[in-house]
Order: sequence, then C-alpha cells, then structure tokens
Amino acid sequence: MKNLSTPPSMGREQNQRDKTLDSTLRPKNWDGYVGQEKIKKNLKIIIEAARKRKEAPDHLLFYGNAGLGKTTISHLIAREMGADIRVVSGPAIEKAGDLASILTNLAEGDVFFIDECHRLNRIVEEYLYSAMEDFKLNIVVGRGPMAQTMEIELPKFTLIGATTRIALLSSPLRSRFGATFQLNFYEQKDIEKIIQQSAQILKTKIDIEAIQSIAARSRFTPRVANRLLKRVRDFAQVEEKEIITKNITEKALGFLEIDEKGLELGDRKILETIIKKFGGGPVGLQALAATTSEEKDTILDVYEPYLLSIGFIERTPKGRIATNLAHQHLGISCKRSGRLI
Ligand code: ADP
Repeated sequence: MKNLSTPPSMGREQNQRDKTLDSTLRPKNWDGYVGQEKIKKNLKIIIEAARKRKEAPDHLLFYGNAGLGKTTISHLIAREMGADIRVVSGPAIEKAGDLASILTNLAEGDVFFIDECHRLNRIVEEYLYSAMEDFKLNIVVGRGPMAQTMEIELPKFTLIGATTRIALLSSPLRSRFGATFQLNFYEQKDIEKIIQQSAQILKTKIDIEAIQSIAARSRFTPRVANRLLKRVRDFAQVEEKEIITKNITEKALGFLEIDEKGLELGDRKILETIIKKFGGGPVGLQALAATTSEEKDTILDVYEPYLLSIGFIERTPKGRIATNLAHQHLGISCKRSGRLI
C-alpha cells in the first residue's frame, strides 16, 4: 500500500520513521491537540450526548490532507469514550471475511477507524452498510444452490472514516456517517505551538525564532512540522549545538533543499514543468504526471493541495496553471501575462 503522506522522494524507510515519529508525538489529550477548535467543540458535544444516552456516538467521517490530524483526533475520541480503537487501512480489508473478522472482534462501544476509506473494496463497502446502519452483517455462506445467508449480530461500535479524497467516497457510504468534519491547514501560530510541544517531548531545546522558521516551512501541516523539527534536531546534534537557533534551522533546511515557503524538490519540479514545458499551463493532470514521472495520485494528494493553498497553482477546466506568484517565487518571468507581479 502506498503511503502518500510524505513526498515520494522520501522513500519507504523514511515513511516508516515518520510513522514512528507520528505515534511518539501524538497528543494524548484534547489540550495537546492544537487548533481545529470548532471541530473539537462539536465532537465534545457528540461524545457527551452519546455518553448521556449510554450509546456509542454516531459514525464520524474526517477528511483533509495527510498529516492534518485525522488519526490523532480519532484516538482522542476513543480515549474520551474510554473505548478501544481498532485502526485499519481501507485497502487492507480485502474480503468480506476480513471485515467480518474485525467487526465480530470489536467490543460494545469500540471505535473502528478506517483510514483511506475511499479505497475500500466495493464489495466490502456494501457489507459495511448494514453493519453501520443496523449493526448486523449478512454474510453469504456456501455457493450455488447450497448458498445461505447468515445474519451476524454485531456490537454497537462507532465507525470513524478518514479520507484525503472525499470526492471519491461513494454517496451511500458518505450518507451513513452521522457527522462529517473537514480538517484544514493550520494557522502559523498553531503550528508553532505544535513544534513547541513536540520539542518538549523530544527533550530538544529550541528558540522561538527557530520555531517560527520551521513553522513557516511546514506547509501548515503538523506531520511536516514534526518531521522538519526532527531533521533540524539531527543536524544540530551533528554540529554539536545544544540549542536549535534560527541560524542552525536555516542551515539544516537549506541543506535539505526546503525553501522558505516549504517547497521541496518535488514541488519545484512540478512548478518548473508547468512553466518551462507547458508555457505556464494550462496542463492536464495526465500530461503533468507523465512529464514529471510522478503518479497522478501523488500530485493530487501530496503536492497540489499545498501549492493550491498558497496560490502557486490554479485549477481551471483546461488544466493546471502556474500563477504569477509561482513564477515570482522561482524567479522566472511570466510569459502568459508578459510581466512579473
Ligand atoms: P492524518 O491521520 O490526518 O494523516 P495524523 O493524525 O497521523 O494525521 O497526524 C500526524 C502527526 O501530526 C501526529 O502524530 C501528531 O503528532 C501531529 N498532529 C496532527 N494534528 C495535531 C494537532 N492538532 N495538534 C498536535 N499535533 C498534531
């Protein structure tokens, strides 16, 4: 299974290290979960109401880019409910039998977290409908004329779905969630707070200017902020610096070729391709993927959301366009408008 949460240039070993880092730095209580205040408030109401009714809360759906805290908030929900959480990635549930075995092993009130739920196998998804609605599974046993339908009663659980691509979720599945929440990019000040928390957990001394500098390059995404902090810490260690300063941060991030907007080599390759090979665009996703040798999904899930959010690319009906801001950032004059603004 692909992990699209970090640019692919990072490699598999890097992804594994990021996962370990994720769980080390995952906040254990609501106070540690920075930002997303409206979502937290809504969730607390849902959980409180369910607790008063002595029922499991409604099924919940979270969507937003990788690394914005969907898994973390799901763990917090389970913790708040005093429930266990079972975490599975959508494509890992290959057959109805896999689903049946997970669901029948849940206890009353447990949380079943399906990451990348837009990648669920269609047949598995259909079995999930009755599980979500009636807490029952209707499994067909045997084949041909001997086939029989077996109804299995399930414990009342809460399904939490997470997806980076809400548009790919089928509407029957989407409509079975009681509440849907979108996680957005964080504010600079929230990312600064997250870096400060993470530095404390990692027992790393860092000054405020260095925190601001990392936050500015974090793509406003907690996972990226944590990853950069870790890299800068490694760099400081090698340089035998006790405190991470702005100077050491900029040196480290420069060494990693991460620029002041948080763009990495992959982002710049995409922008330069649009500008140099396609005259600034518009260019279709297929052509862009083929020219940059990136997978379409990687462009859609990893690179594009941030480039769109900082106004470096625009999506038009004819394809992607590199904006004047992107030209300016790369120091290339914009042929489309004939000027740099
Ligand atoms: P997602 O499931 O959306 O890909 P995760 O929940 O795995 O993202 O978050 C990635 C990492 O970022 C977590 O380990 C956690 O340390 C950190 N993180 C995410 N959201 C927050 C937040 N709101 N406050 C503090 N840390 C966060």
